[in-house]
Amino acid sequence: MQQQAILVAEPSDADGLVLGEREVPSAGPGQVLVKIAAIGVNFIETYQRSGVYQVDYPFTPGSEFSGVITEVGPGVQNYSVGDRVATASGVNGYAQYAMVDAAAIAKVPDAVDLRFAAALPLQGMTAHYLVHNSYMVRQGDTVLTYAGAGGVGLLLTQMLKLKGATVITTASTQEKKDLAKAAGADYVVDYDQVAATVAEVTGGAGVHAVYDGIGKDTFDGSLAALRRRGTLVLFGGASGQVPAFDLQRLNAGGSLSVTRPKLGDFIATAEELNWRFGDVLGWAASGDIDVRIGAQFPLAQAAEAHKALESRATTGKVLLLP
Ligand code: NDP
Repeated sequence: MQQQAILVAEPSDADGLVLGEREVPSAGPGQVLVKIAAIGVNFIETYQRSGVYQVDYPFTPGSEFSGVITEVGPGVQNYSVGDRVATASGVNGYAQYAMVDAAAIAKVPDAVDLRFAAALPLQGMTAHYLVHNSYMVRQGDTVLTYAGAGGVGLLLTQMLKLKGATVITTASTQEKKDLAKAAGADYVVDYDQVAATVAEVTGGAGVHAVYDGIGKDTFDGSLAALRRRGTLVLFGGASGQVPAFDLQRLNAGGSLSVTRPKLGDFIATAEELNWRFGDVLGWAASGDIDVRIGAQFPLAQAAEAHKALESRATTGKVLLLP
């Protein structure tokens, strides 16, 4: 059976995301097939589409989606046809149907709308491992992050506040600043105000940790913002990738640490996946975190979704609807 899906023929700009047809896969051992309700758009798909990250072409992006199981492969025990599920680890998700390992999905409670279930897994579990594992945030820490109105940014700020941190963040427009403030950020400033704000808020000592998803444009300022023995968590490159780096700078900066994590390494076991997924779904259901869907596009307009994300025109989560 054929389905509609986005195909990228070769490394390209957003216009390379073209609606086409591909075969509906069938569920292999340990897998389930999902009829997709909503697809989460993530920055990593721009890196894959453009060739910054290696993928095989023709390529259908998309690892985050929610939907209903239509087929269960051999050996799958905990799921049945009709179950409502979501994942951050699917394959070829910019489509009407996609496959995923049963070990990488979570059931979506009936009370949770499937669109919200597609908006949470990847960015929610990312924010979760950032605050719990990449640097373990403690009550009273002062933390710097960027793009406070972005998909990860809004969730990260809320989780930092749940941990009792003081949060300094950036945003490029007044609308974005208002959203970041509403998410709980204590200081929301322009990018060129970061150094002065960090100095003022910390009395010149610097922050305990920086969460930097901007990369090339912010990396030097992130290092400079750290206090002695501070930690820089470089988790993305929305402005471009950070070039080769001299480790001696960590010594000179005050015994600093830098880590460059990715989500897959923090949901590699069922225990970790269930812990993180359970926490973020639970916090969303209880109202401890608010999930903002900033934009929705029909699947056929995937190119518009990437253009919006890359041109800094989005806030919160961007969804595609098949
Ligand atoms: P966002 O919704 O945060 O969008 C990116 C934002 O970055 C923009 O809205 C913009 O906010 C800011 N920005 C600053 N400079 C630029 C630039 N030159 N071009 C584009 N945007 C810029 O995206 P996501 O929440 O999806 O992702 C945020 C980061 O997190 C990305 O780097 C992504 O790769 C990373 N990530 C990493 C993961 C991991 O496990 N390592 C997992 C998930 C995401 P403003 O206009 O306010 O400056």
